[in-house]
Amino acid sequence: MSLLNVQNLTKKYKNKTAVHNVSFSFQSGKCIALIGPNGAGKTTILRTLAGLLKPSSGTIQFEDEGANHDIRQYIGYLPQFPVFHSWMTGREFLIHSGELAHLSKEESKQRTEELLIKIGLSDEAGNERISRYSGGMKQRLGIAQAIIHKPKLLILDEPVSSLDPIGRRQVLLLMEELKNEMSILFSTHILTDADEVSDELLLLHNGEIVESGSMDALRQKYQTAQIEVGFENDLEKYAEKINALPEVDTIQVERNILHVNATDISLTRQKILEVASDENWPLTTFHINRASLEDMFMRVVNN
Ligand code: ADP
Repeated sequence: MSLLNVQNLTKKYKNKTAVHNVSFSFQSGKCIALIGPNGAGKTTILRTLAGLLKPSSGTIQFEDEGANHDIRQYIGYLPQFPVFHSWMTGREFLIHSGELAHLSKEESKQRTEELLIKIGLSDEAGNERISRYSGGMKQRLGIAQAIIHKPKLLILDEPVSSLDPIGRRQVLLLMEELKNEMSILFSTHILTDADEVSDELLLLHNGEIVESGSMDALRQKYQTAQIEVGFENDLEKYAEKINALPEVDTIQVERNILHVNATDISLTRQKILEVASDENWPLTTFHINRASLEDMFMRVVNN
């Protein structure tokens, strides 16, 4: 059985449906990115899974869920805007969080030391007040607090979106390391972050999952490319010949460059180069322009 099964999850706020009929399952050991623009429903889904919001309808089921449906032991959750007791030191904060998660004082101290090393805040940093921490340090501390009780599933809401490049890199590296110990579900609106650490993506738009799968599978399915071919002159003549190739969908002419759109880019490239070589065309440029991940997302959403 999967670690987590979500069936037809719907969440309405008064008359606004934020999440509509969302279903997915989550195998143990995976890192899944929930990706979508602001307002897509990511926070609502994550808060519902974390037990902080009640679904309007649908079911959420965890593997081995006890009869009392207490899921807190399975889940660690870091909200998008975590609040810290900033007068505490990082070390004090983690010991306190461990006790709140029902660890004994000794267990909590021991786990705190383990985690401070893992998040790179051992030594002096652990004894500094949180008010002096950078955004990246706070986020890593927040992750440590979320996993103090060794949950099976770590839920992170936009863990890197607000960080500077260094903080972002450190948090992504930490997530990469944690993938070996637990399953991770995190939200982001930045595709490159999702691409970097996740095994699979759930693409969310207007509260619905519009596509899912590995980044490679999605690239295969949606990523398009365009071949740019440049000539010194006689553009119309070459455009006509390229357009006659059965693989070519459309051509746009821009100054002395032809922009060739085709579904099978590698075959089209081969065909154009064959004709160009046979007929000794005066090529000035030949370039393949791949669509960005953002373009790919727009294609999924507009499909
Ligand atoms: P995301 O995390 O993808 O930005 P949210 O889950 O925060 O999306 O929001 C989804 C939709 O639900 C948005 O249209 C948002 O305005 C609306 N929404 C979120 N929280 C509330 C609330 N407490 N009351 C009413 N509408 C809300």
